[in-house]
Amino acid sequence: MIKRLSILGSTGSIGVSALDIVAKNQDRIELFGLSAFSNVELLQKQVEQYHPKFVTVCNKTAYDKFKNSFHSDRTKLLEYETGIKYLTSDPEVDIVLNAIVGAAGLEASIETVKAGKRLALANKESMVIWGELINSFAKKYEAEIIPVDSEHSAIWQALVAGGKKEVRKILLTGSGGPFRELPIEKFKSITKEQALNHPTWNMGPKITIDSATMMNKGLEIIEAVRLFDIPADKIEVVIHPESIIHSMVEYIDSSIIAQMSNPDMRLPISYALYYPERVFSDSAKINLSEAGKLTFFSPDFKKFPLLKLALRVAESGGSCAAVMNAANEIAVSALLNDTIEFAQIPDIVINSVEKYKNIESPSLEEILEADRWGREKAKELVG
Ligand code: NAD
Ligand code: MG
Repeated sequence: MIKRLSILGSTGSIGVSALDIVAKNQDRIELFGLSAFSNVELLQKQVEQYHPKFVTVCNKTAYDKFKNSFHSDRTKLLEYETGIKYLTSDPEVDIVLNAIVGAAGLEASIETVKAGKRLALANKESMVIWGELINSFAKKYEAEIIPVDSEHSAIWQALVAGGKKEVRKILLTGSGGPFRELPIEKFKSITKEQALNHPTWNMGPKITIDSATMMNKGLEIIEAVRLFDIPADKIEVVIHPESIIHSMVEYIDSSIIAQMSNPDMRLPISYALYYPERVFSDSAKINLSEAGKLTFFSPDFKKFPLLKLALRVAESGGSCAAVMNAANEIAVSALLNDTIEFAQIPDIVINSVEKYKNIESPSLEEILEADRWGREKAKELVG
């Protein structure tokens, strides 16, 4: 049966890759809707090329601009305030790919789960903020959450090899980012441009900065705790600069199961969309003899204090994850706007979390309040 898909954040790095996959497998998935925030030129091109049934722009100014020039016989423009709700919960929709960046994606994740759909989740921030509540919501509304993040997709695939009780450890891999080998004394002089230059992955600016501070790996620890309902002390971060193994699961018999491929997000995206089937991919295959050597290291917590902070936050649980995420979003956008230096990011995030009084089992309202609190505190610290 053909499934209908909404892609939220279709103009971003994940959204563009997803459209490429769907265009090549039209016999299985039909495009229902697209959403974007500001890149209306690209959105118009996507409408012309892929003919979704619906399209929306979530930002009022960009929506007005888009509406003025929008023309299509086959696609209908949805209002900017209600478009996302329609794309996530209309009865015709089967799968929602949430590829929005940051906490702005939370509402879409909630709406998708409440509508009992499959949520193909790239927006890791919503998993981090929503916290322990996410699984109870998914159960209650019979929704499926399938990760798009490459590491979590790898873990998902490796978990097929054994029972949950047989899992000893999750080995969460990361490239280590562009500053893995830079001596700690030189961190003070890192520029925005250097931080935006990731060695193995080509991604949107926010996650690229998160990879440079290793906050990304920190968010992924929390994402894994929530998604696989596994304690934080069973997750070990392993630095693997080649980005060929995308994560591993170690079982009680000491077997380790890994998932490998070249770094190409189209693989985990298609796994989440077509699961439990696999679809043909023209993505470059790994030539193991050319790859030669795969290397592994322990992370350096001194150079990357945000990784340590995230481990602590993952262990404590509760609403402080929302504060950490919010403070990080403010700090990263301050760097991108040239208001602060790269080296200031960890201090802003750590100070925000330290000043916050954690709520152990927060309600959704308390989580949203924690997000607001984190933003305010970080803005104060940005100055
Ligand atoms: P991006 O910056 O390239 O794209 C973000 C998309 O979100 C754009 O389409 C934009 O229009 C939309 N958007 C931005 N602000 C919005 C708002 N306020 N409301 C609604 N829509 C908004 O980002 P990306 O790299 O594609 O990442 C998207 C998500 O996927 C992030 O959560 C990221 O952590 C996650 N992710 C990305 C990759 C990757 O390879 N890019 C890998 C793993 C996970
Ligand atoms: Mg990842």
